[in-house]
Amino acid sequence: MPSVRTYIGIGSNLNNPANQVRQAFQALTELPASRLTACSPWYRTAPVGGPAGQPDYLNAVAALETELTADALLAMLQAIEIAQGRVRTERWGPRTLDLDLLLYGLVTCDDPQLTLPHPRLHQRAFVLYPLYDIAPELTIPRLGPLTILLKNCPPLSITRLDIENEPVTIMPSNPFSLKSFSNPPP
Ligand code: ADP
Ligand code: MG
Repeated sequence: MPSVRTYIGIGSNLNNPANQVRQAFQALTELPASRLTACSPWYRTAPVGGPAGQPDYLNAVAALETELTADALLAMLQAIEIAQGRVRTERWGPRTLDLDLLLYGLVTCDDPQLTLPHPRLHQRAFVLYPLYDIAPELTIPRLGPLTILLKNCPPLSITRLDIENEPVTIMPSNPFSLKSFSNPPP
């Protein structure tokens, strides 16, 4: 099978999120018939939805070339979540690790078990910004150019971290204004 370019959203807000994200990237390098080709910078983001008072998230995006089918890849991502201690309780509740299959090539699919592109991708600044860092030219099937999605995405409190995990004020390569980038939630 020819390889397909996929993008995976990574999120954690429990049990040392920095370790969780680091370990998730490592686990992605170990997937069969796959090659990790890019890792985005990390972002600290305020929780969206879910119960009040949960900790901030650490988010990142990975690019993976894979010969796995989309279903097989999703099953392996879920196995990594479980291996890193994920317990599914309430929807959008705190989690040690969330791995979302954002895109699988140009495939579109409406199956609730695997919807492609990921159904909430365009509403989530914490997905769009790291995706832009590693794939600025991307056009998303059904949704259009990533740059347009970024301009239209709902404001959210989100901070890019530098290599030492310290906040940096603005993304040097990013054409979008800090104002709309760092709007605190109402
Ligand atoms: P969320 O990521 O929205 O917080 P979960 O990680 O608990 O929620 O996923 C809930 C369900 O979403 C999973 O059982 C999975 O089958 C389904 N799902 C549908 N499309 C996707 C996708 N593109 N990536 C990951 N999971 C998906
Ligand atoms: Mg998920």
